[in-house]
Amino acid sequence: MTPFERPDRRCPKCEHKGYMFRARRAVDGKPDEGGGKFVETKYRCRSCSHDWWERIPAPPEQKRADTGDAA
Ligand SMILES: [Zn+2]
Repeated sequence: MTPFERPDRRCPKCEHKGYMFRARRAVDGKPDEGGGKFVETKYRCRSCSHDWWERIPAPPEQKRADTGDAA
């Protein structure tokens, strides 16, 4: 098995590899995107101070059995 590798994130403007975490927010996907939940993370380039958002699908919510009493 190969370990999970993080994508090589870099500034979309100047391609500098140094960045700072700025913010994170949860957003609802549009119906034509499947309507799922997404997490957007904001980064700031350490070189040119460009800010950008990256959107990834949120992990599926664990559905709890609200009426687990089968009897
Ligand atoms: Zn940059």
